[in-house]
Amino acid sequence: MTAPTAPTAPTTAPAGPTTTPDPAPPRTPSGGSAFTEFARTHIAPRADTAYEAEVLDRLSWQRLADLGLWRLGVPEHLGGAGGTWRDLAEGIADIARGSDDLGFTLSLIAHAGLVRALVEHGNEHHHRTVLPPLMKGAVGATALTEPHGGSDVARTRTVGERTPDGWRLSGTKDHITNAPVADRALILGRVPALGRRDISLFLVNLHSPGVRRGPAEQLLGLRTSPTGAIHLRDVLLHPDAVLGEPGDGLRTLYDVISFDRALYGLVIAAFLEPQLDRVIDFARRREAFGVPILDHQYVQGRVTDIRVTVEVARATALAGIDALVAGDPEASLRCSVAKLVGSEGLVEAAQDLMRLHGHAGFMRGPLTRIVQDALGTLIAGGTSEMQRKNILNQMLAHRTD
Ligand SMILES: Cc1cc2nc3c(=O)[nH]c(=O)nc-3n(C[C@H](O)[C@H](O)[C@H](O)COP(=O)(O)OP(=O)(O)OC[C@H]3O[C@@H](n4cnc5c(N)ncnc54)[C@H](O)[C@@H]3O)c2cc1C
Repeated sequence: MTAPTAPTAPTTAPAGPTTTPDPAPPRTPSGGSAFTEFARTHIAPRADTAYEAEVLDRLSWQRLADLGLWRLGVPEHLGGAGGTWRDLAEGIADIARGSDDLGFTLSLIAHAGLVRALVEHGNEHHHRTVLPPLMKGAVGATALTEPHGGSDVARTRTVGERTPDGWRLSGTKDHITNAPVADRALILGRVPALGRRDISLFLVNLHSPGVRRGPAEQLLGLRTSPTGAIHLRDVLLHPDAVLGEPGDGLRTLYDVISFDRALYGLVIAAFLEPQLDRVIDFARRREAFGVPILDHQYVQGRVTDIRVTVEVARATALAGIDALVAGDPEASLRCSVAKLVGSEGLVEAAQDLMRLHGHAGFMRGPLTRIVQDALGTLIAGGTSEMQRKNILNQMLAHRTD
């Protein structure tokens, strides 16, 4: 095995010029969109190189921004193309369908959560200064996890203090998607001066004095989605740097991460669709006991299980996104269901794809990469245990007795 060489400095290659965006690429007769086509022709061919180098494909990132991806779902008066968050979600799923690169798609999800958070919870200052660059190719991140833990987000040790001119923020975030290359981040912290209800969300320009990033982490999979630490030392922020109300950060956060969770389900379904087509082709060609292996019932069982995952992950994800758009109080529960069934189903499906190829599936290559990438989705976006915990908490909270 070629030992992957993790760069100590992430790629920061500036992207190309921004052209006039095409707001909503039309759907093609095959059911995909211009995003799927772009993913097939541009992202997929670059994915192996990005994987070996363990970097985010910034060129494709910029081209997607130029194609208008980040304007989907953003209201027109904020410079977007209008529509709903389902449009953005479908755009990202279209990319997952064509790119063969789950890592890149997870980086898109991290960014999408920030774009939606700014629109839904941002003020005029955020809409004017933070949102526009994120629609034009800058990279966003959402930073909750800290070195002492990620599941219990309310235990954050990152501290914000008011100053005469705004805020001062200090703390350390760990394992943050896009951190090595991100330009802006939503950072979870607390404001001790507020008393018991003190969790707050800060918008931070990661090029500010006092911000330092760690090197890109060496991961088992998802290597085209760089993760890393963000160190904040007395970072001075604008008076309007808090997203939502100071002290109300947990409520805002649950809305923000719900969208991310539903997106996991949707992109997992989309990512698996072409894998399923390919494995059916293979199972028709490959023979054992004088017949194509697809004629064997146990093989058929694995193939149908993958299709069931595609259907269930997509349906639950869309139910979650539609609930979020509608302001349904059970949206958080539905989004956790989508994340849970999507990531657990993907791990099973990845093993099925590997097993269906026999020894060839165990040889280092695209199939082993899917297995490795799939495992990361059990942890990123909140572990399966935390999704179950949220589902139960939401069920109990919405009982009427
Ligand atoms: C690829 C990748 C990308 C990531 N990107 C981001 C990002 O962009 N932003 C970000 O903030 N974080 C990110 N993370 C970090 C991720 O969110 C955390 O790793 C995750 O929330 C778990 O936190 P932890 O690793 O500290 O584990 P811990 O919280 O220490 O948990 C350890 C184990 O205990 C279990 N556990 C904890 N509490 C309970 C409980 N109450 N009941 C049952 N089981 C429990 C957990 O499920 C887990 O199995 C990323 C992680 C990965 C792998």
